[in-house]
Amino acid sequence: MKPNLLQTPITYLKGVGPNRAQVLQAELGIETYNDLLHHFPNRYIDKTRYYKINELERNSAELQLTGRIVHIKTVEQKKGKRLVARFVDETGEMELVWFRGHKWIKEQLKLNVPYVIFGRTQWFNGVFSMPHPDMELLSDHEKGLRIKMQPIYPSTEKLGNKGITNKVLSQLLQQLFIETKGAFAETLTPTLLEDLKLIPRKEALLNIHFPRDQNKLARAQFRLKFEELFFIQVQLISKNLLRKKKIKGFPFQHVGKKFNTFYKEYLPFQLTGAQQKVIKEIRADLGSNAQMNRLLQGDVGSGKTIVALMSMLLALDNGYQSCLMAPTEILANQHFNSLKELLGEMDVSIALLTGSVRKSNRKEIHEALEDGSLHILVGTHAVLEHKVQFNNLGLAIIDEQHRFGVAQRSKLWHKNEIPPHILVMTATPIPRTLAMSLYGDLDISVIDELPPGRKPVKTVHRYDSNRLKVFRFLKEEIKKGRQVYVVYPLIKESQALDYKDLMDGYESMVRDFPLPEYQISIVHGKMKSDDKDYEMNRFVKGETQIMVATTVIEVGVNVPNATVMIIESAERFGLSQLHQLRGRVGRGGEQSYCILMTGQKLSSEAKTRLETMTRTNDGFEIAEVDLKLRGPGDLMGTQQSGLLNLKIADIVKDNDILKTARFYAMRVLQEDPDLILEKNHPLRITYLELIRNKNIWNYIS
Ligand code: ADP
Ligand code: MG
Repeated sequence: MKPNLLQTPITYLKGVGPNRAQVLQAELGIETYNDLLHHFPNRYIDKTRYYKINELERNSAELQLTGRIVHIKTVEQKKGKRLVARFVDETGEMELVWFRGHKWIKEQLKLNVPYVIFGRTQWFNGVFSMPHPDMELLSDHEKGLRIKMQPIYPSTEKLGNKGITNKVLSQLLQQLFIETKGAFAETLTPTLLEDLKLIPRKEALLNIHFPRDQNKLARAQFRLKFEELFFIQVQLISKNLLRKKKIKGFPFQHVGKKFNTFYKEYLPFQLTGAQQKVIKEIRADLGSNAQMNRLLQGDVGSGKTIVALMSMLLALDNGYQSCLMAPTEILANQHFNSLKELLGEMDVSIALLTGSVRKSNRKEIHEALEDGSLHILVGTHAVLEHKVQFNNLGLAIIDEQHRFGVAQRSKLWHKNEIPPHILVMTATPIPRTLAMSLYGDLDISVIDELPPGRKPVKTVHRYDSNRLKVFRFLKEEIKKGRQVYVVYPLIKESQALDYKDLMDGYESMVRDFPLPEYQISIVHGKMKSDDKDYEMNRFVKGETQIMVATTVIEVGVNVPNATVMIIESAERFGLSQLHQLRGRVGRGGEQSYCILMTGQKLSSEAKTRLETMTRTNDGFEIAEVDLKLRGPGDLMGTQQSGLLNLKIADIVKDNDILKTARFYAMRVLQEDPDLILEKNHPLRITYLELIRNKNIWNYIS
């Protein structure tokens, strides 16, 4: 086969032509032979097995049986006639049913002759039936040559309408195998094939499209899944190695005065073991010659802020500036305030830069950044603006990073000639599997321990009909001097209605919690930033006891005196969001509560979410459930699902294959980081091709 034959435009494949090519491109993104070859079936109809009637199960399934028709009758019913045949084998009987074409079918059917039938079984009124079965005389069936495992390809309505049916796709693939002679080059090394007992690539591709039996199919799937995950890992790992080798970092070699003074005199509490461990990891990175690129995962309230601050002090001790970027103004404000408080009287200059900072102020900040007199800049994405130039940026910290795009991350890289060290902090626990594939190019630190004295939040589920009881409970808590959040969903698609719910809820709270005894704040996205801050601050200062809000308070907000989180219409929130919201309480020493309010009607998925929330406080466990419920694309938001655009592997289900792939990718690259050894030649070819096609999401610059 010519090496570039697979790059041939699909229009040249016999049976395609310009019209079909256009449809294939528009609907399935298939442009070349290679794209078609990698358009894999998503399921198969197994015709290798012949079922017996007594093996049928009540859930409907597509099956093949052998047996005889012993009786045919026409049944009159309200909506027209139906034809019913009694079908038997040696184990039992069932019905075959036709709603159309009676006359013709009745003439065709032969009594007491063995047939092979295929179709979807149903269980209805105590009888198994199969509507409109495919039928073939057993004698013909035995003579015929057929595909026993029929592949079913992912399709779209348009494809079907334009005549590109499943059968046509299958025929086109057959044609592709004929034209290419199925001689596809091997991409893995003999060692890998042998160690993992993988079938050759060409055999795998043949069997994925035209499997001989279940066993062959399983081996083809394993081989192709492994290959897909393996090359993703190769890319991620080599990117990491490359960065460590090629991209010099600023070595922060000494731990100096600022860090030590802070540690000895200003640290308001003892660090947890997990915090110490993470700071050590960061120090090791910063002290080496390579640029740090680290993801810091820590559940809400685990104490990431202090880790951020101490890292920034290290930068300062070595003569570098740092910046901390947060996704919202409220959060940037809060970071700024807590850092200032932590720093106390220390001689460290710190400033806040957000969209609402005045122009004159902004100018001062710009100047201080450029002449180096400003040490730490906290802000929103306003810090990314071109006008913001640092004298010597050495460390950039990004909080809640999944809200920022890749492009933004890369802008930070270019704020200095040598890119600054990067620390990405996230409170969204990412299951290890996902972290491995999404952030395989980052090093990962985890704070897996909460500061001492925290009482786990008690979470309950209550129906709307119990609202009065819930309100009584709120009043008791408020009497004890505590504060309460009441959160409403705000979904883009139903925004107007959601705002109405929020305002209705607010008004009913005002009625039930009247002035002057109770003060209520409200914060939502339609308010002006000044007003939002004003309301937020009243709550932070304890002037109001109740904060009614949409999810704007979801991330980062820290009011340790708030002990109750009420989530309205909790069934409408995703798991990770519920967990984030719950993290707003339980931040002080008092027992805290999270109350999930819902109506009576709940989907089974919603029930699982509520049950998970009431069962556990463990963010990683919740993330695993969330991943299973929603799949990885949703979990990370569309921005990052690009990488997860896998053709055959499934990050959740193929977790074990992923681990294996990572292990072997690591092993290969440790021995041969640039894949230049002769024996790794096939890997190198594939790797280069993947990079050329930008197959993988390019996270870094
Ligand atoms: P998050 O990881 O959610 O950003 P924060 O850094 O905001 O958490 O910390 C949550 C709260 O816990 C803050 O009030 C902080 O002062 C406190 N805290 C952090 N670390 C410790 C510790 N080691 N001991 C006691 N309290 C701590
Ligand atoms: Mg935080």
